[in-house]
Amino acid sequence: MKNTPVLAIIIPCYNEELCIHSTVEKLLSLLDTLAAKNKISNKSYLYLIDDGSKDLTWSIIENLHKTDTRVKAVKFIRNFGNQKAILAGLEGVREIGCDCAVSIDADLQQDENAIEKFIDEYMSGADIVSGIRNDRKTDPFFKKITALMFYKIMNILGAKIPPNHSDYRLVSKRAIDVMELYPEKSLFLRGFFNELGLQTSYVYFDVKPRMAGKSKFNFMSLMTLALSGITSYSVVPLRFVTVLGFFMALFGFLVGVETVIEKIFLHNSPNGWATAIILSCIFGGIQLFCLGLIGEYVGQVFMEVKSRPRYIKDKELK
Ligand code: UDP
Ligand code: MG
Repeated sequence: MKNTPVLAIIIPCYNEELCIHSTVEKLLSLLDTLAAKNKISNKSYLYLIDDGSKDLTWSIIENLHKTDTRVKAVKFIRNFGNQKAILAGLEGVREIGCDCAVSIDADLQQDENAIEKFIDEYMSGADIVSGIRNDRKTDPFFKKITALMFYKIMNILGAKIPPNHSDYRLVSKRAIDVMELYPEKSLFLRGFFNELGLQTSYVYFDVKPRMAGKSKFNFMSLMTLALSGITSYSVVPLRFVTVLGFFMALFGFLVGVETVIEKIFLHNSPNGWATAIILSCIFGGIQLFCLGLIGEYVGQVFMEVKSRPRYIKDKELK
């Protein structure tokens, strides 16, 4: 039987001055409730990562820390993106010490009451508990479609990410320790934790509308997340390019043979101008697409080789 665990709640924040105060209050009272039920230790705490906010987020966090030292935080020198913020959170709470950690968005769109179920799953032996949203009612139409496409592609590529899993999950200390063994700079956490091979459970939760402020993701940042998710995770698209290239070459060879036979034996006059144009457009398109795809991987290699730090801390409140 496990001891009552020390829980760390990781909250990435980017320009969340409108949400952060009430979020922290709600989560602190959740910690109180769970501690009263003896589900978590009363040494449990919140760990906020200010991802280079340009508004009042950090000074609000400083004030919250003054009134309650269970509010711990780190500030980045600039914006590094939500994945890096969660990563920094996991590494930060590993340093401070905890038995398990839950990451949740600062706007509390994910139902925080599901954390109790996360803990139950953890106590019955899971090292990773992934939150799965019941639906995408709160998402705009375009995001719904692109997200579904992304999860479809990832599943075709062999990633066992359940659709509608966001970064709302519990990981045990052991899972964080394993994560530290992976030196790569660009870790796509959703794919990573679902692949580790540690015992995984799923908890369903409801999504609420954003409490205040606007979504911090735009089309470009979602595209970047999706592309780096795919290219940092899988090399299957590269193999696809090789196979495609092979069949294209085979097709070209057969068409070539056919043309020669027609020329020598049938003396046909050249027609098929349209065919030629169409084929050259299609092949041109496919070549450019494949080149771009390979370029994405070269880019990933480039970024990894440069081996830049994942994030740089500015200040810390412990
Ligand atoms: N976030 C972050 N860095 C960024 C963008 C977002 O730390 O560059 C945080 C943000 O503060 C929030 C979480 O990531 O806590 C999810 O962002 P948001 O709610 O805007 O995304 P959505 O729910 O619209 O997908
Ligand atoms: Mg949100």
